[in-house]
Amino acid sequence: MTRPTRTVDVLVVGAGPAGLAAAAGLAAAGAGRVEIVDREQQSGGIPRHCHHGGFGLRDLHRPMTGPQYARHLTDVAVSAGARLRTGVSVTGWAGPLTLDTTSPAGLERITARAVVLATGARERPRSARLIPGTRPAGVLTTGELQQMVHLHGQPVGSRAVVVGAEPVAFSAVRTLRGAGVEVVAMVTEQPRPPQALLRGIPLLAHTTVTGLTGRSRLAGVGLLHRDGRTTTVACDTVVFTGDWIPDHELARHGGIPLDPGSRGPAVDPAFRTAEPGVFAVGNLLHGGEPAGVAADEGRSAVGRVLGHLAGAPWPRATVPVQVEWPLCWAVPNLIAPDGPGPQGGRFLLRTSRPLARPRLVVTQGDNELHRQRMLRPAVPGGRGLQLRADWTGDADAGGGPVLIAAY
Ligand SMILES: Cc1cc2nc3c(=O)[nH]c(=O)nc-3n(C[C@H](O)[C@H](O)[C@H](O)COP(=O)(O)OP(=O)(O)OC[C@H]3O[C@@H](n4cnc5c(N)ncnc54)[C@H](O)[C@@H]3O)c2cc1C
Repeated sequence: MTRPTRTVDVLVVGAGPAGLAAAAGLAAAGAGRVEIVDREQQSGGIPRHCHHGGFGLRDLHRPMTGPQYARHLTDVAVSAGARLRTGVSVTGWAGPLTLDTTSPAGLERITARAVVLATGARERPRSARLIPGTRPAGVLTTGELQQMVHLHGQPVGSRAVVVGAEPVAFSAVRTLRGAGVEVVAMVTEQPRPPQALLRGIPLLAHTTVTGLTGRSRLAGVGLLHRDGRTTTVACDTVVFTGDWIPDHELARHGGIPLDPGSRGPAVDPAFRTAEPGVFAVGNLLHGGEPAGVAADEGRSAVGRVLGHLAGAPWPRATVPVQVEWPLCWAVPNLIAPDGPGPQGGRFLLRTSRPLARPRLVVTQGDNELHRQRMLRPAVPGGRGLQLRADWTGDADAGGGPVLIAAY
């Protein structure tokens, strides 16, 4: 079957905060035909089902709930002239800048002069965490929980265990409590987190989930404590939170190289991937950062997309940015020869174990390029570390990878 074909100037895949912000900026700047597609029926990405506050302060300087923030970004993009199409999934690539879509209206092939990938990230589900046991109902991620409660009004259960203790875990607890579910424990393999704990909920630190029991419905969660004790907590719901994995399938199908640490497309400070004309922004690059960070990346990419549309060359030679354990990744993860530091002048880093105000040291071979003491401690799953980027001009384009280490 032949697909109808169309051309646009910019195709943005994903109408979450990052994609909407990029599309709004591009349309307002006169980038031509800017189209945003999203597989969901409603635009806004994850915030559309986060009914709590905590959105908007960072980038819009006013507090909003998730749905308010999603609606606001949608209105801005559409008013600027971007064409928004929901219920449209991008299924693959038919060429370097040609994407195939499917929707209730049928199949389509869209060729763009620039593609902005903004497909977001999801929490690693139970199956990907390799947790043994039965396959009962009642096993969720926070995203699935919030969609059940806030989008579909479905009942959840009566007694829940939340696995995780990073910010999104507290969001899961709030949603569960709002739905009338008793949260009987929060469980984390990490040390006790510094955040304020929720009253009345035991937090089991240094504790591993060893299995799930129950036939049609979840009956309990098996736990292994640091001292070797094993216990089972009776519950009918378990919510796995955090532990983000970028939604990188589309990028992978397009042969776009991923960064081995972040598992998102490798990008330079201008959000350029290795494929000329293809940009990537938002949580697709790094998993769960706040919505304002994702939206700001979308906004920051606008100038570089416009430059590409105007014929700016796509750099070939880039220096990889690598990290040393316990750091997990750095974004951006390439340094381009044609550019200054990253937009916003910083690299975002994540750690896999708690670090008390670490000193970050950047080297290339035997050359030390930069060192910087962090002012805050860093914890796994918490907000990333931010490293200044004013040293990138000192990196040697032929000098091999740049390494960032934490001490
Ligand atoms: C439970 C929870 C609570 C949170 N609370 C807060 C908070 O209080 N404050 C805050 O600042 N942040 C919060 N966040 C984080 C925030 O939601 C994210 O940072 C933000 O949504 C990331 O934006 P994004 O555009 O990168 O991705 P997303 O919001 O994930 O949007 C990606 C979009 O791409 C679409 N898509 C993916 N693949 C395709 C495809 N192939 N074809 C078409 N469409 C596709 C998806 O349908 C989705 O709509 C929370 C996250 C969660 C899960």
